[in-house]
Amino acid sequence: KLYNEVQDLKGNIRVYCRIRPFLKGQSKKQTTIEYIGDNGELVVTNPSKIVKDSHRVFKFNKVFSPAATQEEVFVDTQPLIRSVLDGYNVCIFAYGQTGSGKTYTMTGPNASSPEDWGVNYRALNDLFHLSQIRRSSFEYEIGVQMVEIYNEQVRDLLKRISSISHLKDVYLDFHTLGIWNSTQPNGLAVPDASMHPVTSTTDVLELMNVGLMNRAVGATALNERSSRSHSVLTVHVRGTDLETNAVLRGNLHLVDLAGSERVDRSEATGDRLREAQHINKSLSALGDVIFALAQKSQHVPYRNSKLTQVLQSSLGGQAKTLMFVQLNPDVESFSETISTLKFAERVS
Ligand code: ADP
Ligand code: MG
Repeated sequence: KLYNEVQDLKGNIRVYCRIRPFLKGQSKKQTTIEYIGDNGELVVTNPSKIVKDSHRVFKFNKVFSPAATQEEVFVDTQPLIRSVLDGYNVCIFAYGQTGSGKTYTMTGPNASSPEDWGVNYRALNDLFHLSQIRRSSFEYEIGVQMVEIYNEQVRDLLKRISSISHLKDVYLDFHTLGIWNSTQPNGLAVPDASMHPVTSTTDVLELMNVGLMNRAVGATALNERSSRSHSVLTVHVRGTDLETNAVLRGNLHLVDLAGSERVDRSEATGDRLREAQHINKSLSALGDVIFALAQKSQHVPYRNSKLTQVLQSSLGGQAKTLMFVQLNPDVESFSETISTLKFAERVS
């Protein structure tokens, strides 16, 4: 195993915290967050000391300050990603309220500028590169799937489309996909989602643009839907040893979760309330699964949500999991920040 990590972590779960910088035009109000040194400790303080939880300390495997670059974040994620080539299943996801930087971390703000690339593009780029240079007797094939989970329904985001002008129709046509039990030998949780062989970063950029556009089209039609759905990019790696014909498989799930913000029950009605209930249900199911794994519990409740079913092969067992906990720095977000941190604390 070339890329096996030295680190031995409890339940194979790591939790990284990333704090978004103040954005341009956002008045530089008081921050609620202080980070101490390099040891993964985070102190959250509410300037108005009367609030509950006004001063709390949280501990992570790593904390990235607002100044951290995409490259720096990726470097600490790379060993995990590379282990996919050794046949490990890996799941990386970003958790946090809408606007906290989940998409920034996972995808990045601008696909046309490699410097801005998030974990997704960098991961695939790295896997291509490595799969071509290492282990002469191994031949690797890489394929990607991208699905969206919205209101407990799974949809293909990469259904081949003939022209952009038809995108909207295609999106609305999407049918709900079934989930197979994860013991399938090929490890495909959503076998009917289209699988796209990729051989270069250009292929990936093209496909991800389709996926993101499909998600965005839904967003205008259904009011910022992208923040209310989970998107799951799955990278399947199949390595064949040309000398022995032995086959090795690994998969990598890269997940941009729906916003974790709580919705005021007295205000939300109809579709909005239903969305909120689905999101709440799936995020707590994810929390319960990771909690069970961290506790090395006998029973892991995968079946409580579509999200945990889709990710099952990459959560638990030999699989490695990384959660990015995304935080807004501003004081208005204080209570959401605390609730995000409590979610993280429970699973780490
Ligand atoms: P989310 O996906 O959690 O809703 P986004 O990733 O869309 O949040 O981030 C919200 C805004 O903040 C975007 O304009 C994004 O470009 C910006 N942003 C997030 N994280 C960073 C960062 N680390 N550096 C600079 N801008 C960021
Ligand atoms: Mg987003």
